[in-house]
Amino acid sequence: MKNSKALFQEIVNDITEYDREEAQYIALLLLEHVLGLTRTQLLAEKQIESTPGQEALLKEAVERLNRQEPIQYILKEASFFGRKFMVSPSVLIPRPETEELVLTAINHLKSKDVATPRILDIGTGSGCIAITLACEVSNAQLYASDISHEALAVAKENATTLGANIDFIYHSILKQPLPYAFFDVIVSNPPYITEMEQAEMSSHVLNHEPHLALFVPDDDPLIFYRAIAREAKTALRYEGLLAVEINWQFGKEVALLFEQNGFAKVEIVKDISGKDRIVKGVKEL
Ligand code: GLN
Repeated sequence: MKNSKALFQEIVNDITEYDREEAQYIALLLLEHVLGLTRTQLLAEKQIESTPGQEALLKEAVERLNRQEPIQYILKEASFFGRKFMVSPSVLIPRPETEELVLTAINHLKSKDVATPRILDIGTGSGCIAITLACEVSNAQLYASDISHEALAVAKENATTLGANIDFIYHSILKQPLPYAFFDVIVSNPPYITEMEQAEMSSHVLNHEPHLALFVPDDDPLIFYRAIAREAKTALRYEGLLAVEINWQFGKEVALLFEQNGFAKVEIVKDISGKDRIVKGVKEL
């Protein structure tokens, strides 16, 4: 028998690779997951009996955390927009900034009166954007593409678990024209990190998350936005929305690209840290 709060403190102390506040947050997630207790139960100094199997899982998880592996890969689970998504190292861990991108699409559709909105997510990864939109927007028809078979497998599993009906397509926006059209919304969170930025990246991200989803090919920070704006110009319906997540350093450049491709009402939206994070525009006639 162990006291749950004492066990919590023990785990916090064992997680040496994070500062204390982060370690507390992670230890709670871990204990909730492994012991199947809520955080209220954990912190209420409950007497608990952990099995040798659970002890081994906790020990292994702490070792992996101390090798800077993200907790979401260890638990194979990440939260996004109030839902739990399965994640593996083949997909980026969903980020809170990306929830804003989902909201941008939802708000646009709320302001329109489309009976069955057609939505495309380019580079879907875990599927978090497409699946959230499928769940939040009534009668939406969702399409989601990726160039990674592994990512598409993760996204499909998430769609099944969360009851979302999505057409997944294996497609490279850099190499092929879009096979579908008449969209009301196109969203994307493409890779946007340049080589120069590698030095400043946390090793949790750099050493564990998929480089295919993070780094731009040819070190060209606009490569995806050029292809996306060009394809969206023909694949969107009149007054359809194009909204993309961006590298905060290239807000003006991406906005200019949108304008050059004939998009109107182009706006750069900041994230909660005050950094340029989303560019959006609507297709004009
Ligand atoms: N926001 C992610 C990061 O900074 C990058 C996401 C992306 O490249 N699309 O780690």
